[in-house]
Amino acid sequence: MTLWKLSAGTASVIGIKRIKSAALPRTAYIMLGETCRNHCSFCSQAAGSQGKRDFLSRISWHECSAREAVPPLAQAYAEGGIKRICLQVVDGENTRETTLEALKQLQAGGIGAICVSRNLQTAGQVHELLASGAEKICIAMDAAAPDIYRRVKVDSWESKWKLLMECARLFPGRISTHLIIGLGETEEQAVEFIADCTQRGITVGLFAFTPLAGTPLAAAQPPAIGQYRRVQIAHFLLRKGYEREVIRCAGGRIVDIAVPGICSLLLDGSAFETTGCPDCNRPYYNERPGGTMYNYPRPLTAAETEQAIGESGLGGEQRGLAYY
Ligand code: SF4
Repeated sequence: MTLWKLSAGTASVIGIKRIKSAALPRTAYIMLGETCRNHCSFCSQAAGSQGKRDFLSRISWHECSAREAVPPLAQAYAEGGIKRICLQVVDGENTRETTLEALKQLQAGGIGAICVSRNLQTAGQVHELLASGAEKICIAMDAAAPDIYRRVKVDSWESKWKLLMECARLFPGRISTHLIIGLGETEEQAVEFIADCTQRGITVGLFAFTPLAGTPLAAAQPPAIGQYRRVQIAHFLLRKGYEREVIRCAGGRIVDIAVPGICSLLLDGSAFETTGCPDCNRPYYNERPGGTMYNYPRPLTAAETEQAIGESGLGGEQRGLAYY
């Protein structure tokens, strides 16, 4: 019997574990499988990692059977407490069968909005998952450019990028990817990556690099908050359909945003909320409670929005909102 691992927040929302949290997930995160055969140097599940196996990013996971998990997940989905399921599949033994079985069990519970994030090689594999009930498929690039990719992962950027582009064409609106900020890419490389994806209808989930004990990147630093805020603002504008050219870069850094009235666009704070598939809010994936809030899992207060805009540093440290 394959055991599922529910993120601690997910287990709490569906009532099988109690945790104290200022923000709960709107998406149920379920990890399938263990002992990944890949070597992503930022991941505690990677082959060779000495990190805790019951962690993925900053999140701990609660093990249970599908039989135990599906009824409360189905109830939470029917009542609206959970709006989506994200299957995060570790690339180990029997990955295909495990994923297809999970899709079957979730659909039997009446759950329709399901994402699958899995290491895939062919458009045929993507098609099989979509035809088996997945609503969206995540082909996680993680790194913004080939040189970064080669440093933190071992497979080929070129073949993964080609697959992402092919699937975006074949399955419009149903493909997403992940981008981790802080792996050594420039802000300009991140903007190019996001623009290339959004132009093709690929949803981008932004993550902040999080150093994890036991991984090769354990001693590396997370991104500066100003860098992350600038990329969030660029991502927000590209999602809204602005041309890539309005985001002006110099020396690899975003230095200016050529959008008149951008202040009013940013004031609802949504640029700084978690991005990715609809209703994916990933509370505390990258953040320590009380620490730097890279991705807000909920709407921001006016003060938080003002702070986030100020942190972007666009227009000069002193000018803050006046810049806009
Ligand atoms: S964006 Fe969120 S829901 Fe979509 S695949 Fe990534 S983690 Fe899952």
